[in-house]
Amino acid sequence: MPRPIAATIHTEALAHNLRRARQAAPNARVWAVVKANAYGHGIARAYAGLAGADGFALLDLDEAQRVRDLGWRGPILLLEGCFEPRDLELCSRLDLWHVVHHDAQIDMLAAHKTHAPQRVFLKMNSGMNRLGFRPQHYRAAWQRLSGLTQVDEITLMTHFADADGAAGVAAQLDAFEAATRELPGERSLSNSAATLRFAGGEGEGAKIAADWVRPGIMVYGSSPDHPAHDAARWDLQPAMTLSAKLIAIQDLQPGERVGYGGHFAADAPLRIGVVACGYADGYPRVAPTGTPVLVNGVRTRTVGRVSMDMLTVDLTPVPDAGLAAEVTLWGRAANGAVLSVDEVARSAGTVGYELLCALAPRVPVSVA
Ligand SMILES: *Cc1c(COP(=O)(O)O)cnc(C)c1O
Repeated sequence: MPRPIAATIHTEALAHNLRRARQAAPNARVWAVVKANAYGHGIARAYAGLAGADGFALLDLDEAQRVRDLGWRGPILLLEGCFEPRDLELCSRLDLWHVVHHDAQIDMLAAHKTHAPQRVFLKMNSGMNRLGFRPQHYRAAWQRLSGLTQVDEITLMTHFADADGAAGVAAQLDAFEAATRELPGERSLSNSAATLRFAGGEGEGAKIAADWVRPGIMVYGSSPDHPAHDAARWDLQPAMTLSAKLIAIQDLQPGERVGYGGHFAADAPLRIGVVACGYADGYPRVAPTGTPVLVNGVRTRTVGRVSMDMLTVDLTPVPDAGLAAEVTLWGRAANGAVLSVDEVARSAGTVGYELLCALAPRVPVSVA
């Protein structure tokens, strides 16, 4: 028998979460962001659930090739654009749209021989200071691009640094608006947090939702601004369940310790279960005692240190749980109970994104 750990990708949940993005920005077209192998879910496995998107946004040319191989004929956007001149040939061959965020990429385009002009997204650095032209240089870049026969339509684009946090989007939106006021073309501004929190309605909301939104984390069922709002509050469903089984039970006496370093000691008689999941499966080693976990769909906590192949859980709330009992590390249990990856991530001092992306290759994954 294989080791009892598995991940499940929920096609219906992906489709539901994608519909949530559409509801939040009803007049926009929706890129399903599938970079990092669909945030760890697997592009091929997520594809059926996300096929209702208007396009797929990603980073790697081989990911773009995979999406084409799956039969996708619609738009594909390279979010970091091209890295070297050769990439433009693949853009022509696979009909990829690509981000232009610095002058060297315009140089490459100017030197590129193509029959069909390419669609580009011109990125502004409106305050995040990662990729893009600064507002005062944006128009010049636009003018240069629009003079190239290699370039078809230019979409105006930026990315928010704190759409999920206290700063919000106002200052960056102002900078973007001011620098693009007289420029024609479609716009694309919003990630999941901006889409859920600020899109919709008239005025600012309409600007934030125009014309292409780029939801990533929300389509996988994780809340972009947890813990301010949890996934249930945004009506998002987990797209990945990581589950395992109990492979041993221990009855601890008061004072007995568990795991490497003996970090946890029972202060009273305590029944614990040993779970076939560890950091080599992608579960965070830094998750401390008290991290939430479901056993037979009942909420309990981890105790002691996470090791490579195992972790241990408190069975007090589930006294009947025995060998082979179902353990849900995150996602949905057989009884329907949900443990959001966001709660586990928070306990481990990180975000749901990191845990989803870190699912280890040794974990078998199936699609439901
Ligand atoms: C990753 C990414 C997104 C999606 O962000 P989420 O927070 O996952 O919704 C959108 N736009 C760009 C440019 C990105 O790199």
